[in-house]
Amino acid sequence: MNYAIGYKCMACGHEISLQPGKIVYVCEKCGQNTEIIYDYEAIAKQLTRKNLAENKDKSIWRYAPLYPVGDDAIRSPLQIGWTPLYMAKRLGKKLGHENLYIKDEGRNPSGSLKDRAGSIALSAAIELKASKIAGASTGNAGSSMACLSASLGISPIIFVPEKAPKAKIAQLLLYGAKVIAVRGSYDQAFDLCHEASIRYKWFNRNTGYNPFTREGKKSCAMEIAEQLYWQAPDWVVVPVGDGNIISGIWKGFMDLYRTGLIDKLPRLCAVQSNKSSAVSKSLKKSSLNSIIIEKTEASTLADSISVNLPRDGIGAVKAILESKGICVEVNDEHILKSIETIARNTGVFTEPAGAASAAGAEELAKTGNLKPEETVVCIATGNGLKDIDSALKAAGSPIVIEPSLTELTKYI
Ligand SMILES: *Cc1c(COP(=O)(O)O)cnc(C)c1O
Ligand SMILES: [Zn+2]
Repeated sequence: MNYAIGYKCMACGHEISLQPGKIVYVCEKCGQNTEIIYDYEAIAKQLTRKNLAENKDKSIWRYAPLYPVGDDAIRSPLQIGWTPLYMAKRLGKKLGHENLYIKDEGRNPSGSLKDRAGSIALSAAIELKASKIAGASTGNAGSSMACLSASLGISPIIFVPEKAPKAKIAQLLLYGAKVIAVRGSYDQAFDLCHEASIRYKWFNRNTGYNPFTREGKKSCAMEIAEQLYWQAPDWVVVPVGDGNIISGIWKGFMDLYRTGLIDKLPRLCAVQSNKSSAVSKSLKKSSLNSIIIEKTEASTLADSISVNLPRDGIGAVKAILESKGICVEVNDEHILKSIETIARNTGVFTEPAGAASAAGAEELAKTGNLKPEETVVCIATGNGLKDIDSALKAAGSPIVIEPSLTELTKYI
């Protein structure tokens, strides 16, 4: 059963009821993003701690009543979500706070958290009988949509900046998407996909603009709560570009709270590169009554969080403010160093954007925002193999020798 009852504007609060067979992307009054609202009372009867404990489905679909698609909706058969949450004491010690966990999102089928968004968006697109699925991406959202679509024999059209990391382009092409590499930024790819989707009446998966992406991403928060035995952590550290993950994480915890599955909410720590800090700048100018979204010129090497205009900016700022959270900026050197710190202290290999989470946790500890007894979860949003060029910058080089024991002896 689909328990979604409608859409609510993220900016003005205007509500629109669900219209079967139709997707509402933005508010009809003010043009801003919408979020999906549910019949939480009915969901609470279905989704109990007891039922979940007995549920053998270890994927995002264990929370099916909290998604805006029907039980009979077509789903990708790939295993999405229920990624491991590791207690990471050694990493925590290095970062200055031992009570630390890391959620390894690189374990998803296409190697990033985006599979959570893509799977719900894809099921919705099929349910809506979309003629074509399109989306713009810095790389991961697209490769995810391509991967999940391939699992169902569908070929989407994906717009990426020409300079997206090679591994992500390879994924897109191999999964059989039509890949449009735009000579320009992610923001320009986003706008082109938007215009084309209106012209050709495609289902547009664009992050933030499509309300289903947030609904998928929220599953990460729901898993964190369940993996911690229904005790929400005190802090969750989230790398932020468009701001759709952090807005989804907040929606996930809020939906659990409204359903009665948790009785405490975490504080969110947004992490941005100081070379892509639109959300951080916006937060400084905003309050819950007046959210102002700033643009920047992004140039961070963490491509997945390199964004000029955050497309779910209002959602991100709201999530930070409502959770009484903060936003920290870290530099690219710190992000690169964090790839190594995480890898050596946990065995988790994450791409630059994912490593920003640990860099952010370190800042959070340093500034005294973390109390010793508090728990903190870092979300390692994507797999390290997705951007080898950046990883190699952090890795240094191996010892190269002639194949002889005499020479080896010099280095042992
Ligand atoms: C998309 C992405 C992010 C940022 O998510 P936003 O919703 O754009 O804020 C962070 N890390 C990785 C690996 C991503 O793919
Ligand atoms: Zn509105």
